[in-house]
Amino acid sequence: MPEGHTVHRLARTFASLYSGQALRVSSPQGRFADGAAVLDGRRLVASEAWGKQLFLGFAPADVSDPQVTGVTSGSDTLWLRTHLGLYGAWTFAGAPDAPEVAHAIGAPRRRIGERETTAPAGPSSPSEGSTSESSTGGAEWIVPEPRGQVRVRLLGDHAVADLTGPTACEVITAEEKTAVEARLGPDPIRDDGDVDAFAAAVGRSRVTIGQQLMDQAVVAGVGNIYRAEALFRAGVDPLRPGRDLPAATVRAIWDDLVTLMRDGAARGAIVTTSPDHRDGSVTRRERGYGRDQGSGEHKPVVDGRRRTRQNTDGAPDAVPADQAFYVYHRDGLPCRVCGTPVLVKELAGRNLFWCDTCQT
Ligand SMILES: [Zn+2]
Repeated sequence: MPEGHTVHRLARTFASLYSGQALRVSSPQGRFADGAAVLDGRRLVASEAWGKQLFLGFAPADVSDPQVTGVTSGSDTLWLRTHLGLYGAWTFAGAPDAPEVAHAIGAPRRRIGERETTAPAGPSSPSEGSTSESSTGGAEWIVPEPRGQVRVRLLGDHAVADLTGPTACEVITAEEKTAVEARLGPDPIRDDGDVDAFAAAVGRSRVTIGQQLMDQAVVAGVGNIYRAEALFRAGVDPLRPGRDLPAATVRAIWDDLVTLMRDGAARGAIVTTSPDHRDGSVTRRERGYGRDQGSGEHKPVVDGRRRTRQNTDGAPDAVPADQAFYVYHRDGLPCRVCGTPVLVKELAGRNLFWCDTCQT
């Protein structure tokens, strides 16, 4: 499931692609036909993320130029609320000159989501069902046919975005949006993220910190990767009750989440390791590896069992996926810091990874 950094990146992408534009909104699959009809022709005036929730604000179509008139979201704004859940993804395609972020549109089809893969770069194939052309935004481009079960399609001047497989996709009012947000904990990526609210929630509960970090009402946007990695970096045993943690430790976890998750939103991938803890920068002997073999030779440890794919894999400067984490999906491998095998255990239905030497 995409964690909060991905959803914030999506929000920025939508703002960059569509801000101020009247969008054609449709539901090729049909399941969102009524909602699409309500939004069709409205202008995108806001694009926000809160945790794993994405909110796109649509003002009435008669607002002539929101950027000039200074119109932002107001009481007549309707919001498209979406949540990707486990299987959802946004797929983008657009004009070569689209004024957007390259990561979203560089390839003919590209999907944003932790589980997604990137189409190979190259010209789009005319045989892949190109039907209509759009020239409203400058350079002509081919609007591709919807692929798969597209719940909602947003078509603007330069680009098209298709949503498939979401857990939530609905039109809500500003009041309903406020109600949704009131049920969410603070989001470390947002400027209004409230460390006091986080510390209070953790400190009043005997639930383990490992479970609390996955509770969107305690902190919004943290998923299984950030949970495992933040607790490792803090040296905190995931099974400790929240209320037993020193207040300074809880605040340090929050501060680290702010750093890690904002970095993830900027980078497009989760990377929690410091360079000197990645394989290849220290020898096995220095890290305590390979004692049994009596070998100090340099051998990167590669976890070939499960690779965690991220959107920016393949970018020239990307940290390799098997180097990006301290403990996530590294069970059985030596801890990058102490060499003890990383542990895994199921907690509240999700696998928890940790090092019981570093995290006490
Ligand atoms: Zn360790």
